[in-house]
Amino acid sequence: MDFNDTPEEAAFRAQVRTWLEANATAKRGRDDTFRAGLSEAEYLAAARAWQKRKAAAGYAAIAAPREMGGLGGTPAMQVVYSQEEARFLTPDRVFEVSLGTALPTVAMWGTPEQKASYLQPAFEGDHVWCQLFSEPSAGSDLGNVRTRATREGDEWVITGQKVWTSGAHFAQYGILLARTDWDQPKSKGLTMFILDMGLPGIEVRPIRQISDEAHFNEVFLSEVRLPDSARLGPENQGWKVMLSTLMQERFSLGENFSGDLYAQIIDLAREVEWDGRPAIEHARVRSGIADAYIAQFGVELIVRRGMSAISRGESPGPEMAAVKLVGARAFQTGGALAVELGGAEGLIAQEDLGPEWRLPQLLWISAPGARIAGGTDEIQKNTIAERVLGLPGELRTDRDVPFRELEG
Ligand SMILES: Cc1cc2nc3c(=O)[nH]c(=O)nc-3n(C[C@H](O)[C@H](O)[C@H](O)COP(=O)(O)OP(=O)(O)OC[C@H]3O[C@@H](n4cnc5c(N)ncnc54)[C@H](O)[C@@H]3O)c2cc1C
Repeated sequence: MDFNDTPEEAAFRAQVRTWLEANATAKRGRDDTFRAGLSEAEYLAAARAWQKRKAAAGYAAIAAPREMGGLGGTPAMQVVYSQEEARFLTPDRVFEVSLGTALPTVAMWGTPEQKASYLQPAFEGDHVWCQLFSEPSAGSDLGNVRTRATREGDEWVITGQKVWTSGAHFAQYGILLARTDWDQPKSKGLTMFILDMGLPGIEVRPIRQISDEAHFNEVFLSEVRLPDSARLGPENQGWKVMLSTLMQERFSLGENFSGDLYAQIIDLAREVEWDGRPAIEHARVRSGIADAYIAQFGVELIVRRGMSAISRGESPGPEMAAVKLVGARAFQTGGALAVELGGAEGLIAQEDLGPEWRLPQLLWISAPGARIAGGTDEIQKNTIAERVLGLPGELRTDRDVPFRELEG
């Protein structure tokens, strides 16, 4: 395992840094955020403009082949770029699904016409994509998807409900998993489609979160008509297509979990007094800081291990499941400690307390969602148990039963 950049990666890092220094503002501190004070519409417009600028410089789709409009670089170069951009004040997350999972799936499974129509506008920020997989009774096990796609001549008629669809309220397209054959076992009768979110029969209802934001949505589909040319991959092979989408998440290397929360807690613990002395002198606070530090350092080492694999041209292994499992829990307990440091005032919105409270409050509020999104804690533990430790797999009695029979 080699944690250092290869000479090529180091040269690319220097090139990217020079470009970022000329085109963006470096973060002044941990609390610096691009989003501050912007409405969602303003933030979206800024994100689109930034994506266009990146596209013009060749950084919009670094690992995509040149013939698809990408830079033709390696996944390691993409990671290098993301690491460098994280040091600058730029809009983030808007294109996370588009560029992180949806477009790589289109690039892998799409027809030449689909690739020609969809990749370039998404790289340039003109289109945002969402991922319509989860349903009220299908999340951890997407083999339970019940959204129905029925063939009528050259068209598919789609009816059903999706839920937790991040960004559906501003997305132009989505990748949608639907059931096309009810007589096959649960994972065999599924097909993936490209959904134009502007079609008649689609209703998007935002879900209001504890943070008062609405990042995700319910999506209702009532007899939405799609041409067969919107099918992504072969009929009834949607499970395979979906697995390739989820595999892409490993390449994100848990970037959102490698912040320096422990350093933030140290700053707050120095500032705040408990019983007439700095909170940092209290054993419980010191132990909480140590826990946050150990969790973050462990996460960082696994991330570097994943980076090392990518650098060798390999895919990061199933041990990457520990990044989210440990990272999201550390954010929740560390965020709770930081909020507690503020005493009763810790629960007041950060705008009133000061910018140094933004990060811990945000982490505390969003950590429960992070422990669910992209695979719950329990699913990560199953991955580690079965695929890292080699323990026996779960009993799956419904694997070969036609889906229709499971419905009763
Ligand atoms: C912030 C956020 C954003 C999201 N964005 C999207 C999106 O853009 N698109 C999308 O399609 N989905 C999205 N999701 C949905 C997410 O993928 C699901 O919530 C997740 O997969 C869990 O599914 P579920 O909610 O149906 O819970 P369930 O699968 O019903 O799980 C309920 C509980 O049972 C446990 N459990 C389930 N199966 C097992 C098992 N085999 N062994 C042990 N325990 C088990 C779970 O850990 C959990 O505690 C998002 C979720 C969140 C929180």
